[in-house]
Amino acid sequence: MMDQYQKARLRMVQEQLLSRDIVDQRVLKTMEEVPRHWFVDDAMRVRAYGDHPLPIGAGQTISQPYIVASMTQSLRLKGDETVLEIGTGSGYQAAVLSRLCRQVYTVERVNSLLVSARKVFDKLRYYNIQAKFDDGTLGWPEKGPFDAIIVTAGGPEIPEPLVEQLSENGRLIIPVGDQHVQELQLLEKKDGRVTVTTLAGVRFVNLVGKYGWSR
Ligand code: SAH
Repeated sequence: MMDQYQKARLRMVQEQLLSRDIVDQRVLKTMEEVPRHWFVDDAMRVRAYGDHPLPIGAGQTISQPYIVASMTQSLRLKGDETVLEIGTGSGYQAAVLSRLCRQVYTVERVNSLLVSARKVFDKLRYYNIQAKFDDGTLGWPEKGPFDAIIVTAGGPEIPEPLVEQLSENGRLIIPVGDQHVQELQLLEKKDGRVTVTTLAGVRFVNLVGKYGWSR
């Protein structure tokens, strides 16, 4: 898609992703294409491609481009997967995922954010995203199992329902820690067994819900 922000997007990919450890060509190409500035307020558009998170209202944030790329890359998507996201927020992460797999399900607990994210999905005609208002720590059992699950808010532990809804050979990525700093944990299910690898240190907003923080 050609637009006035395309240069900024190319620069973002060069300077923030390629220069670090993003090597998945499909992820790089997708982030060159998805118009990130559509997912932030008008007043913030000029900063949409900067190397930082941005506020999106309701005390929440859209993650830094590199974090979106890194978490997406860790899911190793090939194209035919069903993916669950917890924490729709602006919708940007879901939009990126939707270009890389068959179907995205995303759950958000702040209704105003969900409503604006849905509008952007429609405007972009990203029709393989289904979004609902709920506590995402419960997952979305009717739509599972999922080949990949991504949680974009930080919790005290990995919510058990999400582990249950992950398919065999599935990957789940989630920031786990206290309410200030977390580390990204990558959980994989193989032969019915679960392994957890710890990746980078990160800072996310709170995962609030039955299997998250109380506020
Ligand atoms: N993926 C988003 C990031 C948004 S920040 C993006 O690309 O913009 C994290 C989001 O998680 C916030 O919108 C917050 O409201 C939401 N959240 C926190 N706890 C949640 C829960 N239990 N279920 C669903 N969403 C939750």
